[in-house]
Amino acid sequence: MKWILKWVVSMVIVSTIFPISAVAQYFGQNKPSYRTFRYQVKQMPHFEIYHYLDDDALLNYFANRAEEWYAMHQRMFADTFEKRNPLILYSTHAEFQQTTAISGSLGVGTGGVTESLKNRVVMPATHSIAQIDHVLGHELVHAFQFNRLLFTDTIKMKSINNIPLWMIEGMAEYLSIGSVDPNTAMWMRDALLNKDFPSINKLSTDSKYFPYRYGHSLLAMIGKTWGDSIIVPLLVKTARIGLDKALDSIIGFDSKTLSAMWKTGIESYYKPFLKDSSRVLTGRKIISKENSGRLNLSPSLSPNGKYIAYFSEKNVFSLDLFLAEAQTGRVIRKVTKIRRNQDIDDFSFIESGGTWSPDSRKYAFVVFSRGSNRIVIIDVRKGKVEAEISIDGILSLTNPEWSPDGRYMVFNGLVNGIGNLYLYDMELKKTETLTTNFYSSIHPAWSSDGKNIVFSSESVNEKHPSKRYCFSISILNLEAR
Ligand SMILES: [Zn+2]
Repeated sequence: MKWILKWVVSMVIVSTIFPISAVAQYFGQNKPSYRTFRYQVKQMPHFEIYHYLDDDALLNYFANRAEEWYAMHQRMFADTFEKRNPLILYSTHAEFQQTTAISGSLGVGTGGVTESLKNRVVMPATHSIAQIDHVLGHELVHAFQFNRLLFTDTIKMKSINNIPLWMIEGMAEYLSIGSVDPNTAMWMRDALLNKDFPSINKLSTDSKYFPYRYGHSLLAMIGKTWGDSIIVPLLVKTARIGLDKALDSIIGFDSKTLSAMWKTGIESYYKPFLKDSSRVLTGRKIISKENSGRLNLSPSLSPNGKYIAYFSEKNVFSLDLFLAEAQTGRVIRKVTKIRRNQDIDDFSFIESGGTWSPDSRKYAFVVFSRGSNRIVIIDVRKGKVEAEISIDGILSLTNPEWSPDGRYMVFNGLVNGIGNLYLYDMELKKTETLTTNFYSSIHPAWSSDGKNIVFSSESVNEKHPSKRYCFSISILNLEAR
């Protein structure tokens, strides 16, 4: 169904009944299933939250934020839920990928999903509270979109196909992030610099233009120019009569005129900045679509400067890890091939690159394997897997960093939905907890003498809702602990 394909990244529509204490009865395409989840239910005024966390800290925060988002979105949509809305919270991304609540397969890049008929929001805990909160706010916009369109306005599913994806996703981003976002700004600058800024028509029809970022920019312009109160009426009218007629009747412009206004607005804002920036990209390009895939990500240079490990695309849906010579970019080998077992579900390339041993002989990276994360260590010269490390009690981990003496690895591990730093001793095969904060501790790095670890620590600023999450940099002296 086109409708499913169109919305699959962030929302998937199914008509199956949700099996609450689900053993995987239904397998989506390639969907792994490794364990049974025993759900508990937390009732809130507008939500029932299904989870299997052993600890209430994240759950209480999540539940309260869901109610706060509800209050915000309810004002915008002028709509209420008649029943408590189900929220299904998985403790890790690898477990979320096994969900039976929706039928489509979920990749490493899917942050959450909302399905239409029961308005279920399904999402995992992540390595920072800020990210969980954003996904929750975003998915709850979808829950309100579905509720308003399908139940309150009783619009037929077929008519909802009139709504372009940029409007659905752009709205979810605008109402969960606000109008200022460095990520969206970066995309808009890039489009302008490359003379590839889409018209609204192009954006609606050509999937090359990422609907989340362009949609966010366009909806922010509409909201800031004509007022946020027209956004939901525009959504409903677009479903009823199509985008062009809806724009004409609500804003008084056709999409061509609005496209020109959008582009002019972006141009006049960014042009002064573009004057000073160089069009010639700095650096010597060594790995590109000419000798590798189109997406080449998370490069990591070996300490001796000889090798680069990086992710590149295997096909449209997944990536492989490659090793190349740093000077020439010549690919030495595809790392995936040297792994004997075929039980890697995916590489963790979004949160985590990898880490080199201090002697540049080994490279470690994180894989999703049988429902949890493991660290795989390969011997670069022999092209062999040297070790696979599963950490007891820590199913989700990211950003491993090898210590300068080669004995330890520090990483961010997710336990009960909260990301803290852990130290793994590769000689004794023991794990030590380094931080025990409620907010996340991420991106650890070693001092060259191995005595200190510097990391980014999250905190929350309740008084300033639009700048709610802050990240500070902290240093931990290992000898003083
Ligand atoms: Zn979405």
